[in-house]
Amino acid sequence: MTGPDLDQFTAVLPDHLHCPVCLGAAYPPVVACSREHIVCHGCLESMCKKGLQPLCPTCREPVPATLKISPGFTRAIESYSYKCDKGQCKWVGSVGDVPQHLKDSCKYREVECLCSAKYLVKDRAAHGVECPLTSLFCPRGGKACSGVTRSGMFLRRDLAAHEKVCTMYKCPYNCNTYTTAANLVAHQKSCSALRLRIKSLERKLAISEDLVRTYQELGKKRHAVQKGAQGRAPEGSGDDDVVVEEQGPAKRKRVRQASALEIMTLESSDGDDLEARVPGEAMGRSGRRRAAFGTRGRRASSGNRKGAQSGGDPSPSLSEKGIVVE
Ligand SMILES: [Zn+2]
Ligand SMILES: [Zn+2]
Ligand SMILES: [Zn+2]
Ligand SMILES: [Zn+2]
Ligand SMILES: [Zn+2]
Ligand SMILES: [Zn+2]
Repeated sequence: MTGPDLDQFTAVLPDHLHCPVCLGAAYPPVVACSREHIVCHGCLESMCKKGLQPLCPTCREPVPATLKISPGFTRAIESYSYKCDKGQCKWVGSVGDVPQHLKDSCKYREVECLCSAKYLVKDRAAHGVECPLTSLFCPRGGKACSGVTRSGMFLRRDLAAHEKVCTMYKCPYNCNTYTTAANLVAHQKSCSALRLRIKSLERKLAISEDLVRTYQELGKKRHAVQKGAQGRAPEGSGDDDVVVEEQGPAKRKRVRQASALEIMTLESSDGDDLEARVPGEAMGRSGRRRAAFGTRGRRASSGNRKGAQSGGDPSPSLSEKGIVVE
């Protein structure tokens, strides 16, 4: 094992804290000679394993027989902040706390499942969904189907075998029959609940078909009535008819009267009447435009009365001709 990567420190580590062998941080720092040159513990261990008398890599002095980790250099290196080097992990702390972080809290460290698959800790739930060693209850019978484990659960890899013998397949027609998958197919062919359901659906279908026929006949009758009405009253526009229906028989006369008078006025075709044409055309189409017509009618009326008093415009307005539109 080599020393921690220098790039993971958030500030530049001074040269005398580097390991001259692996070029990482000299951590844990082992004193390699009487001049207190340090080497990382991992590198010194592998130097000793080679069997020869190890020399200080900096000054070539023989390494002392008893090695010790320097508390002073340890504190110096641990005073620099270190970023976790696993994936997108955001952890920052002392390099001395890295082993604990990787053991307990790093979500980006790789772990190996008993099924021998490897995954990152953050993906544990996703692996659980596919791991053949995940324990599950039978999706149909739950605890009623006893599995191989103490809790009555099955390992996912054993569930396929159980499905062939599971007796908790339920008849979907609510007849309370539970059986194996193979028997359920045979049962459904003769299930009495299924026959009742089919009868009920057939009744509902017949009612729906009756309703459709009734609507179609009503539609035809309405069409015929509309055609007849158009044939009898060619002088009235379709828009006027709608207004009459909406306003009731009491107003029907007034509107018809208004239409007739309006035609007469337009036939005389002087300037005033052309002005009156626009609101007149709008009568049947919308309440808003009808209201506008009413206002204009009243305005024109008062204006004309003034005109009449002062001997001005002699032509009568629509409202003076008896047209009242509310
Ligand atoms: Zn080293
Ligand atoms: Zn040395
Ligand atoms: Zn981490
Ligand atoms: Zn697994
Ligand atoms: Zn089962
Ligand atoms: Zn059934």
